[in-house]
Amino acid sequence: MSDCLFCRIANGEIPSNKVYEDDTVYAFYDIDPQAPTHILVIPKAHIASVAEITPENATVAAHIFAVISKVTKDLGLESYRVVSNIGQQAGQSVPHLHFHVLSGRDMTWPPG
Ligand code: AMP
Ligand code: ZN
Repeated sequence: MSDCLFCRIANGEIPSNKVYEDDTVYAFYDIDPQAPTHILVIPKAHIASVAEITPENATVAAHIFAVISKVTKDLGLESYRVVSNIGQQAGQSVPHLHFHVLSGRDMTWPPG
């Protein structure tokens, strides 16, 4: 989608601090980190949120988790939190599926 921020980051139109890239997934550092390490992992194809994952596109969602597992190991992160906000009340501000990977500080539960 040409007017989607994360589509434009994934295709290189908008610069980002890349952590990982392959044919279907892109990972980059969050511009406003909420932990010492804060990465976003996204599909290159536009999916609005977890609510839009279907049997037809679920392969990329599964692959995102394999990427999270690999990237965190590559960065030496042993403990981290994976978060995806769905919808306005949950705090989703960018309507393109993304998983936050937060690490490097104590986390509270339940999240705010
Ligand atoms: P959410 O609020 O869950 O939709 O997460 C969106 C995230 O995208 C926030 O943590 C923002 O800090 C981050 N963000 C917004 N614009 C950019 C950008 N240009 N580069 C990197 N991260 C961004
Ligand atoms: Zn998009």
